[in-house]
Amino acid sequence: MTVRLHDTLSGETRPLEPLEPGAVGIYSCGPTVYGPTHIGNFRAFLSADLLVRYLRYRGYRVRWVMNLTDIDDKIIKGAAAAGVSIAELADRWIAQFRSDAAALRMTTPEVIPRATEHIPQIVDLIQRLLDGGFAYRTDDGSIFFRIESWPAYGRLARLDPASLRVGERVEADEYGKDDIRDFALWKGPKRGEPSWDTAIGPGRPGWHIECSAMSMAHLGPSFDIHTGGVDLIFPHHEDEIAQSEAATGKPFVRTWIHCAHLQMGGSKMAKSTGNIARVADLLASGVSPRALRYALIAVHYRMALAYSDESLAAAAAAVDRLDAVLAALRAYRQEGPDDTTLSDLLASTRSGFESALDDDLNVSQALGALFDGVRDLNRRIDARSLSTADAARAAAFIEELDTVLGVTTAADEAVEPEVAGLLEARVSARAARNWAESDRLRDELARRGIAVEDTRDGQRWRRLADVASG
Ligand SMILES: [Zn+2]
Repeated sequence: MTVRLHDTLSGETRPLEPLEPGAVGIYSCGPTVYGPTHIGNFRAFLSADLLVRYLRYRGYRVRWVMNLTDIDDKIIKGAAAAGVSIAELADRWIAQFRSDAAALRMTTPEVIPRATEHIPQIVDLIQRLLDGGFAYRTDDGSIFFRIESWPAYGRLARLDPASLRVGERVEADEYGKDDIRDFALWKGPKRGEPSWDTAIGPGRPGWHIECSAMSMAHLGPSFDIHTGGVDLIFPHHEDEIAQSEAATGKPFVRTWIHCAHLQMGGSKMAKSTGNIARVADLLASGVSPRALRYALIAVHYRMALAYSDESLAAAAAAVDRLDAVLAALRAYRQEGPDDTTLSDLLASTRSGFESALDDDLNVSQALGALFDGVRDLNRRIDARSLSTADAARAAAFIEELDTVLGVTTAADEAVEPEVAGLLEARVSARAARNWAESDRLRDELARRGIAVEDTRDGQRWRRLADVASG
């Protein structure tokens, strides 16, 4: 059995064959940090997280890179409107993103590079494109990629290069281009905009070049997997391929993975239309972060996900069923012989779960296999046919599969429901940046003998050795 993934560029579902056997490099386009991240964005991030978790479960060493776009037109406008520096605005929303990601239990990527920290790599890449005749300067100091110099342009998005961008609105700063289709690698300096003094002149990077520079800086000129939402296929990823391969002469990415839209009320979730649900707002309204995570990962990533109160309620019920069977198995005590058919049940559940995820991460089918197994385990618990050792084995089995899903609580996290509720409420309060409530809950937990601390990876807790009485 091997993991097979759908590649947007070839249109094929192919076995994963990493450049270095056993190790997989993955780059995911991360958020542009000018405002709160909505659940449509997180659907794409969590589908990459599911891929990372499953490949690790399968024994691969994974290096995951997710960038932060911290310089961009929207950030410049947002900072001006808020009367703060660009760095301040970006830092604020990066903190919110990290908090949302931790609440939703997104695996922390090995590298989370920021565009403004990669100006030398960006400049070097643009210099190579200028040297190779793939880019040109305009009078205002901007530098554009010349589409005509790259005949393969349009392959990812399956577009005819001749018809591209005709009729597209011409931005004021893009006058002077040789060809309407050409895209900005570097934007010449402008009043009121940040600018770097570099070997290719003063200015700031365009958006597309950031991802080429950051992915290649951390994964090399060719790497295994690049992920993003379907709306990034064109022009963002098309541009990434052109500029990266033109600069290096090497194939850029082996497998392109694109996550479909999240829809709410029948239309695509997007900041531009105002049809959005923010992670922090949902959590502040009392939505369980684990249920929200489940709702966002439970549909195959290439299918549109219809998000609604009903889908969230179904997700909460599913997480409850997993919590309940784990709690029952952990508490189960029964003298007597082992259940002779338990091994078969666990093996068939595992094979159903794995073969579904091997097939381009078919998560809904994998969940179906898991819940078939859970139903059977519940029957055995009710019938008292398991031994104490069987129950421990079955609990460990579910915990192991959940390393892929990330929705249940570990045994050492198992606490009284009241404390679990307080811990979860505090995660939500922090995600909503409600510090007063988060402090109140910390004190409340301390009174119950639970100390919490906040780490980069989210909230951690431990039992206090001795609780002051009274
Ligand atoms: Zn990107």
